[in-house]
Amino acid sequence: MDEFKINVTRSSMPPLEEYVEEIKPLWESRWLSNHGAIAQKLEAELKERLGVADICTFVNGHMALEVLIQSLSLPRGAEVITTPYTHISTTHAITRNGLIPVFADIEPVHYTLDPDRIEEAITEKTAAIVATHVYGFPCDVERIEQIAERHGLVVVYDAAHAFNVKYKGVGIGNFGDYSMFSCHATKVFHTIEGGLVTCKPEHAAELRRIRQISNFGNVTEDDISYVGPNAKMNEFAAAMGVCNLRHLDEMIALRRAADARYCERLGNIEGIHLPRPDGDTEWNCIYFPVVFDGVRFNRDVIKERLAEHGIYARKYFYPLTNTANCYVEQYGAADLPVAREVSQNVLTLPMFSDLTQHIVDEICDIVLQGE
Ligand SMILES: *Cc1c(COP(=O)(O)O)cnc(C)c1O
Repeated sequence: MDEFKINVTRSSMPPLEEYVEEIKPLWESRWLSNHGAIAQKLEAELKERLGVADICTFVNGHMALEVLIQSLSLPRGAEVITTPYTHISTTHAITRNGLIPVFADIEPVHYTLDPDRIEEAITEKTAAIVATHVYGFPCDVERIEQIAERHGLVVVYDAAHAFNVKYKGVGIGNFGDYSMFSCHATKVFHTIEGGLVTCKPEHAAELRRIRQISNFGNVTEDDISYVGPNAKMNEFAAAMGVCNLRHLDEMIALRRAADARYCERLGNIEGIHLPRPDGDTEWNCIYFPVVFDGVRFNRDVIKERLAEHGIYARKYFYPLTNTANCYVEQYGAADLPVAREVSQNVLTLPMFSDLTQHIVDEICDIVLQGE
């Protein structure tokens, strides 16, 4: 028998026959990548599902963000105001484009970039804001839009956690100038590895350019206008997406049941804070983040104890990206008290669609043993 092991996420899989059915035509067409028939079908279905004007599929979320930022053609050395409380991918996508990340602190409710701190960080060199919808909780998209308009800044959202999220009834990919979604195996919706860029309707021409950049910068066969990487989604990945999309609603409903059970067991416990979406948000239950007080409950002790029982929770997000070894020398001194505090005490507990109530209860029993 396999050793009992529960990871923080577990990929959902469509029925095998369904996937086989979807990839069968490839043995005829022999067209396996380069925005083939299945990728096009997936893009059409995703436009519908996310309620966005346009969409481009990518090999993964990181390359989607990197190519998206490249497409903005910001001057080398321009400043980009961003959050330290995110996946390292967000920060890498900025610096690998030759831009300077300026880290601003997060707000204490949903841990997204604090609009007041954004305003303080703006200088003559500021060109863009790159913010993350942490755990699928929307950033303060209204205030960020006002700030961006006032200062002429581009707004890019790392929406890697926010697939299927709606804010005030509107698909989250409609806010800001552009959004990136990750379709990695560990996310709510996946294509094994994959990513998406969405944009608001008036940027349709730019999205075409983003697509060209993602294919080595080829505009036509003879016209290579951009220095682009290869970042296209392949057909086998797209087929996984087509299948998973069919089952997404039931998968999210199952997550919601596990989420509700966690809340029953861990809500109203002194020393445990559960960050939750607010009433304007239709949420996707991508993670179950818990923030401990560090006194009654110690994050690292609990993480260790869970691991002794074969349960692997993760510290999303720790370390802050500005203190990662590759950045600490340049950016480690940034003054980010809220982000630092949350990052030191947060733990994301296992969350996936086939997580049973029995296992949730077992996890909660272990957490509630306290310090
Ligand atoms: C997963 C993730 C990414 C990277 O996406 P990949 O598809 O894994 O490349 C970027 N940002 C955040 C916030 C993520 O969670």
